[in-house]
Amino acid sequence: MNLNTPVEELSGIGKTYAKKLQSLGIAKVEDFIFYFPRRYEDYSNITSIVNAKPGETVTLRGGVWQIANRKARNRRMTITEAIISDGTGTMKITWFNQPFLKTSIKVGDEIVVAGRVELNFNQIQMASPSWEKFSDDLKHSGRIVPVYPETEGVTSKWLRYQIKPILKLVYNIKDYLPENVKEKYELADLPNALRAIHFPNNRLDLAEAKKRLGFDELFPILLSGVKQKIGMTKEKANPINFNETVAKEFVDSLPFTLTNAQKKVSWEIIKDLKKDYPANRLIQGDVGSGKTIVAAFAMYLVVKDNCQAIMMVPTEILARQHFASLCKIFEPFGIGVGLVTGKEALLKCQMSNVKCQNDNSKIKREELLKLIKNGEVDILVGTHSLISPDIQFKNLALAIVDEQHRFGVDQRQALRKESGIARVGPLQGVFPHFLSMTATPIPRSLQLTIFGDLDVSVIDELPPGRQQVTTKIVESKDRQLAYEFIEKQLSSSRQCFVICPLIEESEAESMRNVKSAKEEYEKLKKIFSDFSVGLVHGKVKTKEKDKIMQDFKEKKYDILVATPVVEVGIDIPNASIIIIETAERFGLASLHQLRGRVGRSGIKSYCLLFSDSFYASQNRLKYMAEIHNGIKLAEIDLKFRGPGDAFGTHQHGILKLKVADIFNTKLLAESKDYAENYYKNLDKHPKLKNKLQQSTKISVSPN
Ligand code: ADP
Ligand code: MG
Repeated sequence: MNLNTPVEELSGIGKTYAKKLQSLGIAKVEDFIFYFPRRYEDYSNITSIVNAKPGETVTLRGGVWQIANRKARNRRMTITEAIISDGTGTMKITWFNQPFLKTSIKVGDEIVVAGRVELNFNQIQMASPSWEKFSDDLKHSGRIVPVYPETEGVTSKWLRYQIKPILKLVYNIKDYLPENVKEKYELADLPNALRAIHFPNNRLDLAEAKKRLGFDELFPILLSGVKQKIGMTKEKANPINFNETVAKEFVDSLPFTLTNAQKKVSWEIIKDLKKDYPANRLIQGDVGSGKTIVAAFAMYLVVKDNCQAIMMVPTEILARQHFASLCKIFEPFGIGVGLVTGKEALLKCQMSNVKCQNDNSKIKREELLKLIKNGEVDILVGTHSLISPDIQFKNLALAIVDEQHRFGVDQRQALRKESGIARVGPLQGVFPHFLSMTATPIPRSLQLTIFGDLDVSVIDELPPGRQQVTTKIVESKDRQLAYEFIEKQLSSSRQCFVICPLIEESEAESMRNVKSAKEEYEKLKKIFSDFSVGLVHGKVKTKEKDKIMQDFKEKKYDILVATPVVEVGIDIPNASIIIIETAERFGLASLHQLRGRVGRSGIKSYCLLFSDSFYASQNRLKYMAEIHNGIKLAEIDLKFRGPGDAFGTHQHGILKLKVADIFNTKLLAESKDYAENYYKNLDKHPKLKNKLQQSTKISVSPN
């Protein structure tokens, strides 16, 4: 037997088992070694019957005094009962629906059982323990025991039995990590780690194995980030000149002074744009931290250097809002701003040589595209419809994605890559600098892994005068009180958002208590009959949606009932309350975003989380009341819901990690450090290089 022996040839594994193992990805002996346990049972507490205490998980060794099968009272189940004795006492052992045990275990046998000690009618006993006949080589008891992912007919017990004897071959597996690296990061030898991950001698042995194998798992992922990052430095981009006077003009035109955080991040962007390879920077800043103006500053620098910039946003409402605010920002400079969404094209141009058709800036799409292509429009805002082969630029140098978490990796990449290569002529193949913005902070662990190719800037300061939004969880018994409070706010001419998870009532039983916008709208119209109530949701036509939002902004409604379509970016400074119905259905990051819809001016604001659910989500919600820092909430969300749900990264290899703990940021940072150091020297480490080529099994690249 060697590492490459097909499992079929092992004793006890015939064609049938080989087929079952195939479904677990095990074809040859080596695959067994890399088939890691899902968890462990700690049966290392070996004791005697007299010392076994109820509630403890222990291993006991004893002689079998008697063993018999009987039917349970309902006759559906067979119960096997045995009595064992170890000289200090006797204990009853029961197993369910394994009648064959009566033949496997005989009176007089010396067996070892491991499990939880229970008290039944004042007698200690064990139910369904792990068991085996006593030997010098315990596999299922007397130690930390591996529990594997199982499949029909392939149990952990069976796997342990197969894997344990194979482990002597681990010493034939070559360690590809150089000695000095193992020393530096205190990493165990690979063979030792592979042995210990299955049958650890103790907890420390297991922890060391996990550290080493976790490092091995993360390493290719981290390396792919490094590779992409270095790859980008080999691409071409338009370096943008920085002219201090020009920059000062922009800053002076603003109605406020930039916060220190905004200045710091702007400076990082200036340095990015100067480079002749594309920047790839994520700007992270809490809701209301003023990301738009930083983006506008970058676009301004680009336009002043005779290039174009685009900005992609996730919804049409937001596209129009950004269009409006960018028009205002750029008005003093005579910079043309265009808008493209799925259905319409708008152009606001302050340029003398281009005339808009009419006041509301409507323009034919073809016309706008022509102006973009010949460079008369400098800035283009839009939804994902910006990624369209018919949109060509004269000299695109900057692409920005706002609320980047709302887009898929593909869309972000397409904006960066396709808007760059769509161009013809001498500039073909020149990529735009790329900035993405998000208020959903990306926890450090994911920054280092999934987003490993990005540079990150954080706007960690809110403009002065902002107040914390007071957040409360409201149970149904307090609903009336909450409504009275809302009424008071509305009476002092404030406005209120009411967010419901659904548009319409759902038939599904599981959704019975989930509030729908339509239903809530009807109800609130009656409750708040002295006030006007509006309704907006995902099925409302864009045009109408925009009108409703505009009307709300102009205080035509006091209350706006909405689905989470308002989540991103909408700016209604006079709104002072946001109510979120069935709040437990939302992630903390989304709730934080929604909460950011209020408290956008100096007005004292409130967020009320309505939740009748007494499940674990209540626990999760309580963090909203305590924590107002987006990054902390995102970390908590990540722990509660995992990266897939919290960050929409279901497709990514990071979710397939078997041993690595992505919350271990120390190990992550170390692995990353190593990845960066060694990427450049890969050729000097053929074993490592080889290993990386093999590990393409893990989907290492987010692209
Ligand atoms: P977000 O980061 O959530 O996208 P915005 O860019 O929409 O935030 O900014 C929120 C509001 O804060 C806007 O009305 C903007 O004009 C204002 N703002 C931005 N920067 C400052 C500043 N330095 N001082 C005062 N107000 C600011
Ligand atoms: Mg924004």
